[in-house]
Amino acid sequence: MISEKPRVRFAPSPTGYLHIGGLRTALYNYLFAKHNDGKFVLRIEDTDRNRYIEGAVENLIKSLKWGGLEYDEGPNIGGQFGPYMQSQRLDLYKKYAADLIANGKAYYCFCTTERLEKLREEQQRQKLPQAKYDKHCLHLSKEEIEENLSKGVPHVVRLNVEANKKIIFNDVVRGQVEFNSSNVDDQVLIKSDGYPTYHLANVVDDYLMKITHVIRGEEWLSSTPKHVLLYDFFAWEKPVFAHLPLLLNPDRSKLSKRQGDVAVEDYRIKGFLKEALINFVALLGWNAGDDKEFYYMNELIENFSLERVNKSGAVFDLEKLNWLNAEHLRKKPNTDILQMIKEEGKKLNIDYQNFSDDYLLKIISVMKERVSFVNEYFTKSFFFFEAPRTYEQAAIEKNWKSETPGQLNKLHDAFTSLTNPLKEDYENALAKVAEELNIGKGKLIHPLRLAVSGMSAGPGVFDILFILGKDETIKRIRAAIDKIGKS
Ligand code: GLU
Repeated sequence: MISEKPRVRFAPSPTGYLHIGGLRTALYNYLFAKHNDGKFVLRIEDTDRNRYIEGAVENLIKSLKWGGLEYDEGPNIGGQFGPYMQSQRLDLYKKYAADLIANGKAYYCFCTTERLEKLREEQQRQKLPQAKYDKHCLHLSKEEIEENLSKGVPHVVRLNVEANKKIIFNDVVRGQVEFNSSNVDDQVLIKSDGYPTYHLANVVDDYLMKITHVIRGEEWLSSTPKHVLLYDFFAWEKPVFAHLPLLLNPDRSKLSKRQGDVAVEDYRIKGFLKEALINFVALLGWNAGDDKEFYYMNELIENFSLERVNKSGAVFDLEKLNWLNAEHLRKKPNTDILQMIKEEGKKLNIDYQNFSDDYLLKIISVMKERVSFVNEYFTKSFFFFEAPRTYEQAAIEKNWKSETPGQLNKLHDAFTSLTNPLKEDYENALAKVAEELNIGKGKLIHPLRLAVSGMSAGPGVFDILFILGKDETIKRIRAAIDKIGKS
């Protein structure tokens, strides 16, 4: 535990959905806050009006809440406890920009797009490593500036970065990080539409919201020198920085849509459990120092520390996510799985009237070890919900011999004479028939399985018979004899 109670924030720009990388950032902030008895703030960085997307904020909050990442505070927006929205705080940013201008740390720039374009072309021609503004407007006289402003000439406000200075900051994940200010552009702080850029709004808000730790993705590392300059110009204490490692595809390229799903929503729709996704995402760049991989949220909170976040890129391994999903699903109480199956069944339009809770619970007990996703209770054991219409061809070829129908007929009769049979009763009856026929039990078991389930693999065949019940069992044996016949 750190002594001061930390305040952290997740500060997404609303792009329409929550990216897996965003979920990881939000989660690490959340875990850090909860571990240290601190606060987790949600701030929507929506100052780029060109990128405004209807419903994006709602989507984002929905995905966060689905994952269990409830934020702790926010202003009252229209009677609702909302996240902080930067678009509703514009006056603040203008005020702070004005302070910087007054202190010579920022300046008005009236350059036209054409001039900036020419400058860029010229710098490219000179093969400069990076296009930078040439501080042309820094040298305008007070009168020129006043005149331009009063005439309403379009302008931006730029950060006045002094060249050849070392910008040094500490990052919990990567140690001391050093930049040379000559590589930092005179960043636009206020755009011509009057909206702040990310850099200004982000720093002002982190300061005003008393954020103690800035935990965000590595892609923001190159912005940090600009932020450090801003903190210094304002004479504000800097937060602790922690830049989380990049998320990579298995081929170590940057995690992208092209190689798979990147929206949290996609995983939810595909049937991943939130527990599994959270567990998986927590391990994308962090471990507790041992090889434990299965975690519940409370264990993550208990064990999380920024010091154990890795520097190197974290590979998104779908196999592992599938495995975690299976593990989390398996560890759920059967009664919870029952509810989940019912919900899944509704989606698949399966009529439950015919299937009692007791029946479904029996299916759960035999299928639990065999499924990784809730929907597999249907896809892998559809035969519990309807009689097979087809039979696996390869299994017919392998196990259904010309003598099989006759043998199954005997089995059919033996089962018919049982009263309220339990699993063992089917088993004993089958053993007896095998003995009478002087054949191995397998000669009956394989075709029997095929007859009742249509498949060659699955849970124990006597479990299947017991769950289906005697009437259904003998009906299916008869149907298979008729349908597959002598083959
Ligand atoms: N608005 C930035 C984003 O979209 C926030 C980066 C930061 O956390 O500073 O991720």
